[in-house]
Amino acid sequence: MGKIIAIANQKGGVGKTTTSVNLSAAMGTKGKKTLLVDIDPQGNSSSGVGVDRRAVKNTIYEVLIGEAKAPDVIIHTEFTNLDIIPSSMDLAAAEIELVTLDHRESILKNALVPLREHYDYIFIDCPPSLGIITTNALCVADTLLVPIQCEYYALEGLSQLMNTVRRVKRQYNSQLDIEGVLLTMYDGRLNLTQQVVQEVKKYFPRKVFATAIPRAVRLSEAPSFGRPIQYFDKSSRGAVAYDTLADEIIQTNKG
Ligand code: ADP
Ligand code: MG
Repeated sequence: MGKIIAIANQKGGVGKTTTSVNLSAAMGTKGKKTLLVDIDPQGNSSSGVGVDRRAVKNTIYEVLIGEAKAPDVIIHTEFTNLDIIPSSMDLAAAEIELVTLDHRESILKNALVPLREHYDYIFIDCPPSLGIITTNALCVADTLLVPIQCEYYALEGLSQLMNTVRRVKRQYNSQLDIEGVLLTMYDGRLNLTQQVVQEVKKYFPRKVFATAIPRAVRLSEAPSFGRPIQYFDKSSRGAVAYDTLADEIIQTNKG
């Protein structure tokens, strides 16, 4: 049975999408059948793996509003062992549309649970908010991966995120756990980075991944080619880092 990992932090620009795309692709290259679920209306994960959203008929939006079934919206990418459920700009409206539905927190869960048996890993790229869409991801996830940018105010907003996690655990998903906290855009030469690392480790004892993702320009270039870093510049520092992160997660999960 596949493991479902939500990649979330309501702060924008911290590396959620970069991590979703490249960690998913890295898992695929290691023989793990992987599904990436893009639930951010901006759709950067979808375009990051080469999906042209204008050419896609049905997306996660149609699944959430009950007009399509999840297996029917899966796209096989050109990358090894990597499938994606793309997002749609309409998803922004879903925040409002879902509010009136019964069981509105578990719609994504009902859609994704039957897919578990077909994958080793399912990663969910969350939007930069703590609304109903992110709540849906936390309700179905086994674990949460939190990217944190090694910058000023790195810890800002994390208490709201952790409050949301506690609420979801209490009400819907008592098993929800933290997979790990990922330091992104890491530059070990900077004093600031060292300070942030110390603070984050204090806030999340024993939860920070050993692997940190360096600030690397190739990681920011790959999306415009619609390719994960492993298929864009395989020997770059960013590719090696996501490869190492995938190994770390496989090792922790023993598979
Ligand atoms: P989020 O999904 O949290 O909003 P993104 O993954 O889209 O964040 O990253 C925000 C911006 O930073 C993007 O332009 C991305 O290319 C860039 N970026 C992300 N991680 C790195 C990194 N490790 N090194 C350099 N640029 C990065
Ligand atoms: Mg994003």
